[in-house]
Amino acid sequence: MCEVTAAASTRLPSDASAPRLARLFLRGARCPQHHSTVLDDAELLTSELVTNAVVHGAPPVTLAVECDTSSGMRVRVTDGSSRTPLPRAARPADVDGRGMALVDLLSAAWGAEPTERGKEVWFLLRRSSGSGPRGRSARDEAAQRWGP
Ligand SMILES: [Zn+2]
Repeated sequence: MCEVTAAASTRLPSDASAPRLARLFLRGARCPQHHSTVLDDAELLTSELVTNAVVHGAPPVTLAVECDTSSGMRVRVTDGSSRTPLPRAARPADVDGRGMALVDLLSAAWGAEPTERGKEVWFLLRRSSGSGPRGRSARDEAAQRWGP
């Protein structure tokens, strides 16, 4: 467990304001020591999962963030429907599937599991995950070479 930031969770409304509230919560709940490089992707993917939960799932929708002291970030979204998303079967017109395809693309790992009251969809981001130059900055390279 992280000594800087405790695990946090919140319940979100089941309406169009949920993705915005989810992003605000994520900013407040993320660990300032460990999560500095993955927040953009985390906000994007959390918006997708929360949108899916509101549009295709059922209340209550909850969002949880927990720091595991790595540079990665694990986010969990639960809702009251046991219907799980199927990203690989998504067609272009299927918004639900598109969101999950994005999660599949950007996350280091993700999963969807039934719970007692519905389901939980989670994803794990790693600093080097995702596409392109966001993975590692010149400052990171320098810090590694010369120490902090
Ligand atoms: Zn932390």
